[in-house]
Amino acid sequence: MNMRELSVVVLLLSVAVDMRAEEAVAIWHTGDTAVTNRVQMTDGRVVFAPEDAQSVEWLEVIPDRARAHKGEDGFFVLPRGEMGTYRCESGELLASNGGIVTLTDPPMPIYGMKTPRGTFLAQAFGWELWHGIEVRAIGGEYTVANVFDFRVEKPDCPFGVYLTALSPDAGYPQMAKLYRDRQFAKGAVRTIRERLASQPVLAEAVTSITVRIRQGWKPAPSTVLEQNVFNEPEVTVAVTFDRARELVRALHAAGMRRGEFCLVGWNKGGHDGAYPQVWPVEPKLGGIDGLRAFIAESRSLGFNVTLHNNFQDCYTVADCFDEADMARDRFGEVQSNEGSRWVWSGGKSYLGCPQRMWERFVVKQMNEIAALGCRGLHYCDVLSNYRHDPCFDPRHPLTRKQAIRYYDKMLAEMRRTVGGSYSEGPHDFVAGTLDACLKVAGNPVTVPKADSLVDRHVPFWQLVYHGSILSTPFGESMEYPASADSGARLRMVEFGGRPTLYIHRAFFGRTDLGHGMLTLTDDADFAETVRAIVNVSAEYETRSALQFELMVDHCLLAPGVALTAYGNGVRTVVNYTDEPFPFEDEMVPAHDWRLFDSREGAGH
Ligand SMILES: [Zn+2]
Repeated sequence: MNMRELSVVVLLLSVAVDMRAEEAVAIWHTGDTAVTNRVQMTDGRVVFAPEDAQSVEWLEVIPDRARAHKGEDGFFVLPRGEMGTYRCESGELLASNGGIVTLTDPPMPIYGMKTPRGTFLAQAFGWELWHGIEVRAIGGEYTVANVFDFRVEKPDCPFGVYLTALSPDAGYPQMAKLYRDRQFAKGAVRTIRERLASQPVLAEAVTSITVRIRQGWKPAPSTVLEQNVFNEPEVTVAVTFDRARELVRALHAAGMRRGEFCLVGWNKGGHDGAYPQVWPVEPKLGGIDGLRAFIAESRSLGFNVTLHNNFQDCYTVADCFDEADMARDRFGEVQSNEGSRWVWSGGKSYLGCPQRMWERFVVKQMNEIAALGCRGLHYCDVLSNYRHDPCFDPRHPLTRKQAIRYYDKMLAEMRRTVGGSYSEGPHDFVAGTLDACLKVAGNPVTVPKADSLVDRHVPFWQLVYHGSILSTPFGESMEYPASADSGARLRMVEFGGRPTLYIHRAFFGRTDLGHGMLTLTDDADFAETVRAIVNVSAEYETRSALQFELMVDHCLLAPGVALTAYGNGVRTVVNYTDEPFPFEDEMVPAHDWRLFDSREGAGH
């Protein structure tokens, strides 16, 4: 047999393996009834026709391959980086919990799984914007399900899940790479390096940190749900524009030369005060003259300034509030956060229809903000944090898919006017227009807990998007210099985070200023915050060039010691333990990290 014949045989064998008879369980739910059937998979795909979904409410799909038994080798990994081994008798990670974002609200339509029977990546398609991922262990039997929701909208194209086999020894970095390659191949995202020519501000933003200064707010949660000019609560002032100027002067005097300041609550009514209205600039903080002076001084010292805003949450106190611009649900009701415990400072927030927000406010407001001299990664709250519900107002109807395209237009407008875009969450339906994400996951899981299926977080999302979208890994990351947990600083490095620090992050009764919080309350707090920012900035500069690289590998070298590798060959080793860790002729000190650059001519 010559080589050519051999390769044909090998090819046929691999096709035969891929196409082996494989099935999935499909569970169709309507009300309290569930109908289960087995469906054939072809080439790793289970595909449903749109008509299959017309008279049911939701569907669970569990491929036979997505099963494991307690005690088996392997793991599952979810889009925000939650990873679990098969150690539990029972437990569940559900796709939704009363509308509150949970662990498995998937910002990417993928999960990975390794069992003794195979290693694969599963990707939902066709209806991925209405899909969740659920993991269950019942009596030690694990299943991972893709859940498709048809209650609000019905699919208009074939949909389902496809599984791609990986070599048995593949880990989550290889799973992430497969999806990253697909995203690049279809042009869903471009790297930061590729965007530099069209977005020169990225060169500054990537190599410096963002400091969010929360200046003023009304009480949250608010007891005045429907606010108007007569009953609006008072704004509490934390940081005036003059005080903020003292901060940038002190930072410059302490040696900081680059950075971006994002003012939060600078607008009418303070943070979450009256969106989408922002003007006039909150008078208690110093008004428009104070804001102009802050921007001018910051720019003269070499810093960039951006202004936090929000084109999703709308408050009745806004002088531009019009119920006709709000998104309506399928029953014709105006959508709001009524009943949610997250009632922010402006009271009940209504959900603006993205089309009306775009038409009425976005272009105008972004141009006004740019005209003040703002430049950098413009932070617009919430956009990338949730999948917007469709709008059923007959005057401006939108499917979820159409709503999300308006997000793209908004983020693109932020790039056009201010230079870059920054929003709250990691949802990759805006991967093509989002430059930075405030937090990929909520609280980090670092050790397995008996009552949770998750063992720990790994940088699964970052292995896909590092080098394309800047991020901080967790909610804690925004205050990590003030954290009692030294691990918070190390997780920033392990997960390739670009620091964004948040001053006066006092929400929901969190008034214990100075404890785990960065504040400018008195001179001592001020000095401590300056020190923290300067230290974070200086430490970040030693690794900021990595933001231009893809993250290509991640593993534990030992319990509590993590290695992260980048496309240019540079690696970081993070040591969470109490003992120094030896690596390549060097010691990584306890509770510290080191950068390893073995490239030709590079020093350590
Ligand atoms: Zn609408």
